[in-house]
Amino acid sequence: MRSSQSITKEHMPASKQPPSRPGRRPLPRSPGGSPLWYAAGFLLVLAIVQAVFFVARSGRTLPYSEFKSLVRAGKVAEVVVGAAEIRGALKAAEAGSPNFTTVRIEDPKLIEELEQHAVEYTGEAASSWMTDVMSWLFPVLFLIVIWSFFFRRMGGAEGGVMSFARSKAKIYSEDDVKVKFEDVAGVDEAENELKEIVEFLKTPKKYTSIGGRIPKGVLLVGPPGTGKTLLARAVAGEAKVPFFSLSGSEFVEMFVGVGAARVRDLFRQAEAKAPCIVFIDELDALGKARVQSPIGSHEEREQTLNQLLAEMDGFDARKGVIIMAATNRPEVLDPALLRPGRFDRQVLVDKPDIRGREDILRIHAKNVKIAPDVELKVVAARTAGFAGADLANLVNEAALLAARRDKPAVEMKDLEEAIDRLIAGLEKKRVMSDKERRIVAYHESGHAIVATVVPGLDPVHKISIVQRGFGALGYTMQLPLEDRYLLTRTDLQNQLSVLLGGRSAEEIAFEEISTGAQNDLQRATDIARAMVTEYGMSDAMGAITYEPTRRPTFLNMPMPQERGPYAEETAQRIDAEVTRIMTEAHEQARRILRERRQTLDQLAARLLEKEVIEGDELRVIVGSGRPCGSQR
Ligand code: ADP
Ligand code: MG
Ligand code: ZN
Repeated sequence: MRSSQSITKEHMPASKQPPSRPGRRPLPRSPGGSPLWYAAGFLLVLAIVQAVFFVARSGRTLPYSEFKSLVRAGKVAEVVVGAAEIRGALKAAEAGSPNFTTVRIEDPKLIEELEQHAVEYTGEAASSWMTDVMSWLFPVLFLIVIWSFFFRRMGGAEGGVMSFARSKAKIYSEDDVKVKFEDVAGVDEAENELKEIVEFLKTPKKYTSIGGRIPKGVLLVGPPGTGKTLLARAVAGEAKVPFFSLSGSEFVEMFVGVGAARVRDLFRQAEAKAPCIVFIDELDALGKARVQSPIGSHEEREQTLNQLLAEMDGFDARKGVIIMAATNRPEVLDPALLRPGRFDRQVLVDKPDIRGREDILRIHAKNVKIAPDVELKVVAARTAGFAGADLANLVNEAALLAARRDKPAVEMKDLEEAIDRLIAGLEKKRVMSDKERRIVAYHESGHAIVATVVPGLDPVHKISIVQRGFGALGYTMQLPLEDRYLLTRTDLQNQLSVLLGGRSAEEIAFEEISTGAQNDLQRATDIARAMVTEYGMSDAMGAITYEPTRRPTFLNMPMPQERGPYAEETAQRIDAEVTRIMTEAHEQARRILRERRQTLDQLAARLLEKEVIEGDELRVIVGSGRPCGSQR
């Protein structure tokens, strides 16, 4: 073997050096790898040597007779006599490749002849096993190298197969979370609710020594871009606790079992760092209601969700770990997530009203140079329907516009232009036009005034024309003062008037009606029909119920409409009674609003300006101090 190598070296043409194997690269990259790698590396080196050896051997294959005649002619310089073949080199004078091979033939006189013609000769021991081994080892090694290369790619930046299960959650240490509540604006209610969480994280002992139950999970619900992520980080920043965050969507495209392992790992890490916050963004990606699917394609997500539920249950909130999550689609969440002991506290993070928008603009305007002519109040008024992220974007756009024009600061003109651009971009998100806002303002004012004027109803808590993320254009919220078990006929009639108040206000103010009242009309009609057919509240129809007994619904789907056991003529009388009740309610609403035409205009104007009016202010405007018992 030694001798064969010596020949190899001497006779190998430089151009035939085997190219360096690309497959070798991963080997030195695995420091601390198993001894297996070193063994593989060693074998690979051998393989290369052997390959070189193969190359060197190549050359002409001569018939044995020609070989013998060459020897006799004295043209052969040296030979290596192997077990099966003889390789050799001709003297330099010969043209072409000096190497040759010939198949060995039993020839006892060969040595004699070689000596006669002064040919250098060597024997070769056991070269054939090496050749055999190499011929299968080489492909195997090649496969190993390819395989390890792809596995590495799959491991990605994480550093290989082994760390798959490690949580991707980024850990912000306390210094890292610099966000404070003062960086968040326009979501005061949510902020106030979260202050309690901050207090608890700061001094968990104070709370646990009394034995109070601390909320385990807080779910931030609201349209995209309203600052949910920002708020969660602000809680960590205010409480100066570590903040572990990860996004639900990260879990979704993983191998089965990995997501669950990550959740487990995340909670172990969090426990070690308590008090701290674990924040799961986009919970809906992970926490969609579990479905029975024959395909089982949601296996991974459900395993992960189950693990999350299990961790939340087994978790002791007194240790000071608060789990926060955010979603903009609360309706798709698995109900199991919202049970007590899990995300039992829900905080609404809604789009800001006009004052909130001004505050948010002020926060973001701090980061750019603003010219003195800029009035953020005006900008806020022009950006109805914008969420916090839209406003941050607006300031940035304006700054870019100003910079492009080589201005030293952002001027009002830049902001105006940025608004126009963004609104065009938001068109898909349906930002209301001025006319639509006026209609909605009158509509909601109508509801609110009727609700305030008629007696015996729940007081109005808030009116809003801030466009919601969830469809409604505005709302009038009534909050009950006490639990009610019984409603009188007058109560129901008044309720109908309130529902029809929106439509009535539109009629009075614009002499035109819109589709905005569809939901009101539906609810009102349902109530009126129930008054006639279920509660026996119609004098004309008498105290009879005309409804068939209600059946349990199937999967929350209403059963196909089934009419009660009454005659066609009765059905017509029922319809007539429903119409009468609706008409009376509509008339009452219109009368109330016509008598207060000025109040209606005033309230609508105020609503357009402020977008949100609290119940107290409403009552001052309507002046409901005097009793108003003239109806019915
Ligand atoms: P969400 O998580 O609700 O979709 P983010 O918290 O990610 O929204 O908001 C994105 C960015 O928009 C924030 O980093 C911040 O700059 C800005 N922003 C959103 N809401 C507010 C707010 N209420 N106050 C100040 N800035 C906000
Ligand atoms: Mg977010
Ligand atoms: Zn309405």
